[in-house]
Amino acid sequence: MNAQVDKVYEQVVARNRGEVEFHQAVREVLDSLTPALEGHPEYTENGLLERLVEPERQIVFRVPWVDDAGNVQVNRGFRIEFNSALGPYKGGLRFHPSVNIGIIKFLGFEQIFKNALTGQGIGGGKGGSDFDPHGKSDAEVMRFCQSFMTELSRHIGPNTDVPAGDIGVGGREIGYLFGQYKRLRNRYDAGVLTGKGLGFGGSLARTEATGYGTVLFAQSMLGTKGDSLEGKTVAVSGSGNVAIYAVEKLQALGGKAVTISDSSGYVVDEAGIDLDLLKQVKEVERGRVADYAARRPGARVATGGSVWQVPCDVALPCATQNELDGDAAATLVKNGCGVVAEGANMPSTPEAIEVFQKAGILYAPGKAANAGGVATSALEMEQNASRTRWDFETANAKLTDIMADIHDSCVETAERYGQPGNYVLGANVTGFTRVADVMIAHGII
Ligand code: GLU
Repeated sequence: MNAQVDKVYEQVVARNRGEVEFHQAVREVLDSLTPALEGHPEYTENGLLERLVEPERQIVFRVPWVDDAGNVQVNRGFRIEFNSALGPYKGGLRFHPSVNIGIIKFLGFEQIFKNALTGQGIGGGKGGSDFDPHGKSDAEVMRFCQSFMTELSRHIGPNTDVPAGDIGVGGREIGYLFGQYKRLRNRYDAGVLTGKGLGFGGSLARTEATGYGTVLFAQSMLGTKGDSLEGKTVAVSGSGNVAIYAVEKLQALGGKAVTISDSSGYVVDEAGIDLDLLKQVKEVERGRVADYAARRPGARVATGGSVWQVPCDVALPCATQNELDGDAAATLVKNGCGVVAEGANMPSTPEAIEVFQKAGILYAPGKAANAGGVATSALEMEQNASRTRWDFETANAKLTDIMADIHDSCVETAERYGQPGNYVLGANVTGFTRVADVMIAHGII
């Protein structure tokens, strides 16, 4: 790291005490920017790094609601409007008990560069709450979403800030949030949220987009070595929207996903995950991976260790941040894994990334590999703005092109900076440069 980068990082730590995930995300980006800063004094002169690490606006609010037993519950809501250089703030909402301001800030920071990589004119933001939708009735989830939107509606709009889903926020939650926004504002702003139902402005392929995109990215990485996913054994973590559609796309491309996981453990299914059963258990019944294993002959549930102990050619971490540590990375490499593409945001710890890079395997950070979700959100905004609806093939073809473009931009940037195959440098420098140049054009704001 150079001295300026060190200084900015230290200031981030001092100013955002205890927000360890945010510190980690900043460090990972800043570490790889040194080559881009050298030879570009304008970035330093314009205080680019100092401005980039400070969110434009941070909204923290009380979310009171009444549970089915008549008790008053209070959660905390967040929306971090991080950077609007390239367009309206864009990024999901996460509802999970682990949510705090540091988690939302790390996600918002990552989103800036991810969204820049898509090339679609969207800024970076993120929000959420420490509300846990698991075990809540539909009516409780609805009342929570209505209370959350009662405050959030003051801050968002199709040209201001456009939230979407993330962990714990899917089609059901987006529906309740949209209904309450429409009622409060008396505006049918279809483009104020993405990930909507197909009957009220949602885009075909949005549900599939993050998982599909991650697999397409892995396929492109393998392509640089003249290889493909055909016949590959793949370890997938998670069992939410990203994991399910990663499994679907893998199967379409001839790969075999042999694992899924959730917070209670993981399932190994050597014969290959049964996609219909997985969808039934997770999407229809909102069940656990153990329910899948109970109904799938030959599948076994493991509670100790992690999914990364299962030998594989390709690993797709699709669960959550820091789910893959240095030891797990060493095990993957030892077992012959040659490709890691992140479907989740920051699932690999810094130690794990170091192991992958030292071993020289293909490793793609989430901000590049999982950008297909937000890219398709931007396609949804495009359809809403022009009051049109594309068929699945059209949306999917655009997603496929965008993922190929992100991959190629990362490869090209890494080569230009003398580090071929370094997707971390490729993604961070490409995203940073696009945002930084526009921030300079906009002046000191
Ligand atoms: N939460 C997703 C992400 O991490 C999608 C955000 C969006 O569609 O706006 O990129």
